[in-house]
Order: sequence, then structure tokens, then C-alpha cells
Amino acid sequence: MNRKRILITGGAGFLGSHLCERLLEAGHDVLCVDNFFTGNKPNIIHLLENPYFEVLRHDVTFPLYVEVDEIYNLACPASPVHYQYDPVQTVKTSVHGAINMLGLAKRTGARIFQASTSEVYGDPAMHPQTESYWGNVNPIGPRACYDEGKRCAETLFFDYHRQYGLDIKVVRIFNTYGPRMHPDDGRVVSNFIVQALKGENLTIYGDGSQTRSFCYVDDMIEGFIRMMEHTPDGFTGPVNLGNPVEFSILELARTVIAKVGSASSIEFRPLPVNDPMQRKPDIALAQEKLDWFPSVQLEAGLDRTIAYFDALLSERTATP
Ligand code: NAD
Ligand code: UDP
Ligand code: UDP
Repeated sequence: MNRKRILITGGAGFLGSHLCERLLEAGHDVLCVDNFFTGNKPNIIHLLENPYFEVLRHDVTFPLYVEVDEIYNLACPASPVHYQYDPVQTVKTSVHGAINMLGLAKRTGARIFQASTSEVYGDPAMHPQTESYWGNVNPIGPRACYDEGKRCAETLFFDYHRQYGLDIKVVRIFNTYGPRMHPDDGRVVSNFIVQALKGENLTIYGDGSQTRSFCYVDDMIEGFIRMMEHTPDGFTGPVNLGNPVEFSILELARTVIAKVGSASSIEFRPLPVNDPMQRKPDIALAQEKLDWFPSVQLEAGLDRTIAYFDALLSERTATP
């Protein structure tokens, strides 16, 4: 096989750790770069004995000089609680981080992948969202550090592509869930599962009629790799990756309670500012170009995620 040296920024996070694992399994040499802001060592501890795996504690807002063949740029806090904790650092991570990784790709000739987001569409006025939609983002609101940071990173990727001929791959990730999500990161799937397992009330923000489409992590990672390895027509993206099956947040809460068999009830809280009312990807482009379609349905993905959090919470209770 063709063993590549692959850099993954944000490799100790939720998606990054699954990607490290998949690329090591495929026989590549993986360098995980992370500042451990929202990522953690337990996510990657099982990989440390692999001689083809290396970890570097580093903040991507600073330059990085390494020799690699491919770069997956995932570094960035992804949940509102974390990206709003230090909004200026969030913008720097997306913008300076993209510049440094693009500079690295330019010097080494590496192909470079950007983990963009459905948040570039903001509170969308078009439903479902296609890649040609330009979005509806409030540039000065509390979510802007993330949304606009990611939009600017996309701009940088396309400018480096046009100006310097860089080989870029841009994916727009829609809500993804699964094992190794951070239990305290405030995202809806992890919150509901942890609350249900602890027998606490599930917190619905707003009336629960807002919708999201949830993609299981294994499907998402498969999409990343297909996009990175897609060569024939020089396809750069942006391409949407997500599960197009749409659920209301109220439906999700009821499903989680039923699956956990919990005595929890539902409690309604105010809807956060600029919280999008609807979100669902149009994935026709990913199907056409990458022959990709998610295969794990919400019920099956929730079972695996509940099992993960159940084990994690039992471990925490057992540790003195
Ligand atoms: P995560 O928070 O688990 O992972 C992000 C990782 O980046 C963490 O390990 C964190 O420590 C690291 N990081 C943050 N700032 C850094 C910096 N300045 N330098 C080096 N490392 C840094 O989140 P995730 O869900 O795994 O998201 C990974 C990527 O995918 C992010 O770029 C995110 O924006 C994008 N994304 C995720 C989702 C989703 O639903 N999970 C949706 C859209 C986009
Ligand atoms: N850079 C890096 N690693 C490299 C090459 C560049 O981190 O291997 C950073 C460097 O800090 C630079 C940025 O990437 O500022 C952008 O690089 P580019 O070559 O586009 O710009 P320049 O060096 O001309 O400012
Ligand atoms: N949400 C909720 N209860 C929670 C956490 C989130 O009702 O405990 C809602 C949130 O307001 C949003 C949806 O669930 O409407 C998805 O939130 P998440 O933070 O997971 O993702 P994003 O808003 O980035 O899509």
C-alpha cells in the first residue's frame, strides 16, 4: 500500500480521534496535533502504542513546521459552550489556524482538508441547504466567532487554491454524534443521553419544534476519507456531509428517554440567541461525487452512543 504521512489537527477531539483510528487502521502514519482545549488523552490513549501514531501538543494559531503528505484541519471547538468561552481564540483558531495549515500545505505540496460546518448557512432561509446557498449569518452575534471564523477559513482555502494552486478539499459537516462526544459540551445528543442516564430532566431549549439532522460518526468519517481520496476531477467542494433524516428536538428527547428507559421528564428552557430553527443537508452532491450516503439510522446510532456514555458514567462513579 501507499503509506502516507497524515497530519490531523484537532486529532484528540471527538471526530479527530475517530479519524486517527481509521487512518491508522488503513496503514498510514498519523501525526495528531492538538492543544487539548476540548480534546483529551483518553480519546486517543488506545492509539499510543501504535508506532505509526504521534501526538504533538500544539496550538494551530502558531506556525508548525513538519513534513507531511496530507492535512486534515479539524482543530476548533465545535459546541456553543466551548466556542463561546473565548470567542477571540475561536476566531484565531479558525483564521490563523487555516493560514498556518495552508502555509504548511503550500510549502510541502500536501493535499489539505477543511472541516467546515453547516453553521456557514446560519439560520437558513433555504431548506434543505444546498452548497450553492450563501447563508444567513449574523456577523456580530454570539455565534459569529464560530460561523464567521469558519466562513473566513473557507475563503482562505479557496483563495490559496486559486492563487497558489493548492489541492484543497472542503466539507460542510452537519450535526454529528457518537461515542467520544464530550459529556459536558452542551450538544443536544450528549446532553439528553447524560441527563436520561442520570435520571435528570431533559432540557429542551425553546418549544422543541426546531429541527436537526443527526449523522452517526462512522458515516461522517467515511465521508471525510472519500472526499480526501477523491481525485479524478479535482473536486474541491464545498460538499455537505450529514444525515438528511430530520427530527425535531422534542422527538429526539422522547426517543432518548424511551431508549434509556429513564424516568426523566422534559423541562423547557429559553431558546438561545440566533439558534437556527431548521437544519437539514441536501447531500445530492456527496452522493453524486463521492457515492456517499449515511448508513446508520438514528435508533442504531443512539444505542451505541448510549452504551458509550453509560460505561463512561459508571467509570466516573467507580473512580474515588
Ligand atoms: P471537538 O471539540 O471534540 O474537537 C476539536 C479539537 O480541536 C479538540 O481536540 C480541541 O482540543 C482541538 N483544538 C481546538 N482549538 C485548537 C487549537 N487552537 N490548536 C490545536 N487544537 C485545537 O469537536 P469535533 O466535534 O470533533 O469537531 C471537529 C471539527 O469538525 C471542528 O472543526 C468542528 O468545527 C467541525 N464540525 C463538527 C461538527 C459536529 O457535529 N461534531 C459539526 C460541524 C463541524
Ligand atoms: N507556515 C507554517 N508552516 C509551514 C509554512 C508556513 O506554519 O511549513 C505558516 C507561516 O506562519 C506563514 C503562514 O503559514 O505565516 C502562511 O504561509 P504563506 O507561505 O502563505 O505566507 P508567508 O510565509 O508568505 O507569510
Ligand atoms: N438543545 C436543546 N437542549 C440541550 C442542548 C441543545 O434543546 O440540552 C437544542 C439547541 O438549542 C439547538 C439543538 O438542540 O436548537 C441542537 O443543538 P446543538 O448545540 O447540539 O447543535 P447546533 O445548535 O450547533 O446545531
